[in-house]
Amino acid sequence: METKVITIDHKDMDEAVLQEAGVIIQNGGLVAFPTETVYGLGGDALNKESSKKIYAAKGRPSDNPLIVHICSMEDLKAIVKEIPEAVERLAEAFWPGPLTIIMHKSEVVPKETTGGLDTVAVRMPSHPVALKFIECAGGYVAAPSANVSGRPSPTKAQYVIEDMNGKVDMILDGDGIDIGLESTIVDMTGDIPMILRPGYITKDMLEKVLGEVTIDKTILDVNCKEPPKAPGMRYRHYAPKAQLTIVEGEVAKTIQTINDFTKAAHVRGERVGIIGTEETKSDYIGDSIKSVGKRQDEESIARTLYTILREFDDEDINVIYSESFSECNMGQAIMNRLLKAAGHQIIYV
Ligand code: AMP
Ligand code: MG
Repeated sequence: METKVITIDHKDMDEAVLQEAGVIIQNGGLVAFPTETVYGLGGDALNKESSKKIYAAKGRPSDNPLIVHICSMEDLKAIVKEIPEAVERLAEAFWPGPLTIIMHKSEVVPKETTGGLDTVAVRMPSHPVALKFIECAGGYVAAPSANVSGRPSPTKAQYVIEDMNGKVDMILDGDGIDIGLESTIVDMTGDIPMILRPGYITKDMLEKVLGEVTIDKTILDVNCKEPPKAPGMRYRHYAPKAQLTIVEGEVAKTIQTINDFTKAAHVRGERVGIIGTEETKSDYIGDSIKSVGKRQDEESIARTLYTILREFDDEDINVIYSESFSECNMGQAIMNRLLKAAGHQIIYV
């Protein structure tokens, strides 16, 4: 399949391009598009054949449900059994934005889209290109992240092209991917709202609107033997090609340990990548030393993490050592993704 790649400026959108993209979706095709979190791989959420195509393009297991993207609150009614009052409050506070809400699905949503579940994950993104594109596509766009399953979610069009060229009809190359990590997922089908995936919208932010909110315990406890509640969190996502190990402890000790590991790796003839910060990058001796951002600026770390993991894939790196980050605010989402990328390999010093 020939993939059309079109650059689109979110401050001056070419509506004809978005109309063309919308027609592709309505005809059962696939379009990758920018959102404020990461790039999405979109298909018609109400067409089971489109959902099957999404799974095929990603190489994603079909029991891993897709998020349905909408562009207006009016459109929510048709795809859920009911809109609980708490969901209305959530939408008022955080939509459009990086929050995915799980609700009971209505009949119109095919099981192919929800991975066989009776619930549906819904998000209204805030990226102007995404909103207009969803509108042109008919209002319901099923979209997982636009990466091949197991690779980091794409934060740049070049990574979407790398993973999806020849597998989708169109790639919209846009800027404005400000967050860099996938949306927070909150399950509103139980008695108490539960976070299934941490993201930019934190537990504290949700509690201000909802009262008590819990977090799926598998996110907090790396040794938990129970499966995570979001099917997608069961897989070793976000994995770079090289084995990644996180070193956690006081900063000077962390640097010392990583440098010791690097020396040992060099003796074995391995090339070492290091994920440090602006504050520490000059203290390391690795072959490829990258700063993920300023330690106090979690948003910059979130924005850069996946890009760095992808860059290591393109360099001839055998092992990666990373510093650990605080779990305050967005730090929880950062550590959740980093731990998954590391296959939970963490050393405490
Ligand atoms: P992605 O679209 O790649 O960000 O992945 C979507 C995430 O949402 C995966 O982790 C899915 O397991 C999760 N998800 C989607 N729908 C549901 C649902 N109905 N119940 C629980 N998790 C869901
Ligand atoms: Mg994904």
